[in-house]
Amino acid sequence: MAKLDIIVREVGLRDGLQLVKSFVPTETKLAWARAVAEAGVPEIEITNFVPAKVIPQFADAAEVAKASLSIKGPNGPKICALAPNRKGAENMLLAGVRNVNFVLSVSEGHNLSNVRKSTDASFAEFENVVALRKERPEWKDIKIQGCLATSFGCTIEGRVDPDRVLRFVDRYLTLGADEITLADTVGYAAPSEISNLFTHAVRLAAGKPVYAHFHDTRGLGLANVYAALEAGAAGFDASTGGLGGCPFAPGASGNIVMEDLVFLLEKEGLRTGVDLEKYRKAREIAEAALPNESFYGTILRAGLPKGFTPPSRLMAAE
Ligand code: ZN
Repeated sequence: MAKLDIIVREVGLRDGLQLVKSFVPTETKLAWARAVAEAGVPEIEITNFVPAKVIPQFADAAEVAKASLSIKGPNGPKICALAPNRKGAENMLLAGVRNVNFVLSVSEGHNLSNVRKSTDASFAEFENVVALRKERPEWKDIKIQGCLATSFGCTIEGRVDPDRVLRFVDRYLTLGADEITLADTVGYAAPSEISNLFTHAVRLAAGKPVYAHFHDTRGLGLANVYAALEAGAAGFDASTGGLGGCPFAPGASGNIVMEDLVFLLEKEGLRTGVDLEKYRKAREIAEAALPNESFYGTILRAGLPKGFTPPSRLMAAE
């Protein structure tokens, strides 16, 4: 397996599906994940271990997670999933997924409305998740990522203090997080803010990867990607066709578009491992499964610039 320069992580099956009301059949979810992996995406956030009564779309979380472990692609993929609490994390580990993503919101108001907990209570829950490492010998080396939602602003509280975000990064790391994600959950950030916060967070993380989770709600998604890239982000979340709306801005665009993200990174000379032509299949599966959802992105419509060969394609030929 050749070394990739930067990680792209597919979140369509989690963030993208979060607001989709019609249940996508388990087999369709798996076919979509398989196409994503076969295109070379090295990481997939496969589902959300939230109770089915909270988000019925993820009622099949354990089944999807288990089946996803046998998915093969040229670059893995590494399978991770979201767990809102210890119970969810435990169910995920029992399903065999060893990369746990935990999320809390930096904004107190957003965290209360999202998970009905204070941020202090959420950090206590994070400690409970970390404690699972001691529960069984085979769980000793699980990887735990701490995600900070609303790191760049919040629809309830507006501005979020960057110093508070950095204190939360530090708290996650102190409690045992292996990786950090800074999320612009509602698409409020501008590149200079991204640059500032990522520079400090990357320094604090001292070699542990800092991921970027951006939404393109207000059209600044890829500009923010570039700023985070320059500030040392290790990986980027994105979804097939940008699937994933914003609950606070009906009709607004969602996550960063994976296809356009890959093009930006490859055009900058970075190997993502993703073959855009092969990724087309993932998009076809998602679009066919979700006829009432909006899909975005330009590169697959426009095609690659004449004479441009993505570095990942050269890598595949080596
Ligand atoms: Zn998101």
